[in-house]
Amino acid sequence: MPLYEYECTSCGKIFTAALSLREHEEKNVTCPGCGSKKVEQLISPFTAKTDRKS
Ligand SMILES: [Zn+2]
Repeated sequence: MPLYEYECTSCGKIFTAALSLREHEEKNVTCPGCGSKKVEQLISPFTAKTDRKS
């Protein structure tokens, strides 16, 4: 399963969640810290642009 990174807008906790595509599409994500569903997905560092020095 792909990993997604989220930030909780209630308590500010940043966490990663391994979700199936279906779970991701349904945005069925809760903060493991406070249980809030007010979470925002962050851009994964793994898919961010590569910063290679040539
Ligand atoms: Zn939280």
